[in-house]
Amino acid sequence: MKECRILRMNSVSAPAGPASVMLPLRLANTTERERMADKGRKYHRSNEGKKVRVDLRRNKQTRARQQNVTHEMLSDTDTAADVRKSERVTGRGSLSRRRTLVGMDGGGDELLRVVAQEGCRRGRVSSFIGLHVMVLDENDGMEFACSIRGVLRSMARDARNVVVTGDRVLFRQEGDAKQGVIERVEPRHGILSRGSQGREHVLVSNIDQVLIVGTAADPEFKPQLIDRYLVSAERRDIQPVICINKIDLVDPRSLLAHVRIYGRAGYPVVLTCAHDGRGIDQLRHLLKDRQTAVSGQSGVGKSTLLNCVDSELGLKTADVSDWSRKGTHTTRRARLVPLSFGGWVCDTPGIRQFELWDISLEEVDGYYVEFRPFLTYCRFQDCTHIHEDGCGIKQAVAQKLISEARYQSYLRLRQDDTWAWKNPARGHAKQ
Ligand code: GDP
Repeated sequence: MKECRILRMNSVSAPAGPASVMLPLRLANTTERERMADKGRKYHRSNEGKKVRVDLRRNKQTRARQQNVTHEMLSDTDTAADVRKSERVTGRGSLSRRRTLVGMDGGGDELLRVVAQEGCRRGRVSSFIGLHVMVLDENDGMEFACSIRGVLRSMARDARNVVVTGDRVLFRQEGDAKQGVIERVEPRHGILSRGSQGREHVLVSNIDQVLIVGTAADPEFKPQLIDRYLVSAERRDIQPVICINKIDLVDPRSLLAHVRIYGRAGYPVVLTCAHDGRGIDQLRHLLKDRQTAVSGQSGVGKSTLLNCVDSELGLKTADVSDWSRKGTHTTRRARLVPLSFGGWVCDTPGIRQFELWDISLEEVDGYYVEFRPFLTYCRFQDCTHIHEDGCGIKQAVAQKLISEARYQSYLRLRQDDTWAWKNPARGHAKQ
């Protein structure tokens, strides 16, 4: 029964409503927030797509009403008589200000803007520099500094993720310099995102694999952080690969327990040393022809590793003297780069906290993949695997079919996120 629940979570719901009222195709995992945002949209058919009325973003609105009227009136009695004449009160508040756009279903839950494609180039967002979005042309590899067409912000549900690193875009060159404007963002797949102050922060899009980098030492190995990445990757159907770097700092035999735990759960684990080259060939093999997000805490050696895998990348790394355990890091923004031997990698900024996004506590157990076969043995369908009798997971842990470390990680994740949920203003618990 729990397994059915896991399968259902990935299924796509049919479009709702009669055919004449065009509602967007919506994935089953659309969040409540997105559904609320959708309420403000009205859809109509048109020949080239469909017309949609969307709310104008605040920066496009003029102030509807003069401010401080009462204050001014009270301080100057002479103007009181003029107030009625000068102040217009209108029922058209900010909620009724809309514009009409033409779009089509992008195959996901977002609307795709209809754009005349002549003169447009296709590209991939590689990074953000200042106010510019850096886009690599798909044909000649030239890099353009682009702005974003304002209408895209109106169409997006979340202004924060209008364009993200990894996006495939249609853009138009403007002027003679390498500058342009992004006209359309193609539908995304393979999104790695996390929660940040109650909102989604998309780290990178259009990836099929995430390389989760931890360290044998300096900074210490953090299984809790790795497990959060694993849960997120499972949620989005992205293949995780675990890399434990800096094995020169310990006796590699001390890492066998970690290798066994993750290996038994079915995850590829590679042990590397960027300084003496151990494991680099294996890593190169795993990255070849794939779209990989490279994630992990800062200072674990992500940039150094990528430079070893492909010497043409030339990513900036921290000098030994720069690096401190306090968390100095060189990669401050996500950067997507092509590999000379095929494939792309995105070096994401190091993060110490990884808040899950769009995953409820009740479904976390299904994303600990080795738990899945035992979920059906729980007596209660809503078993939390913490205190219940007749719990299949606890029994599997007792029989060593599930590792004690992973079970403890599950408990810790639930405990931390329950705390964060009850204390939203105080941010997320540290891993
Ligand atoms: P990032 O923030 O994850 O990109 O980390 P960097 O690539 O900038 O590396 C942080 C520090 O770790 C640098 O001083 C590297 O020289 C060092 N480092 C990277 N890989 C290894 C390794 O395999 N062994 C050791 N001992 N140090 C490493």
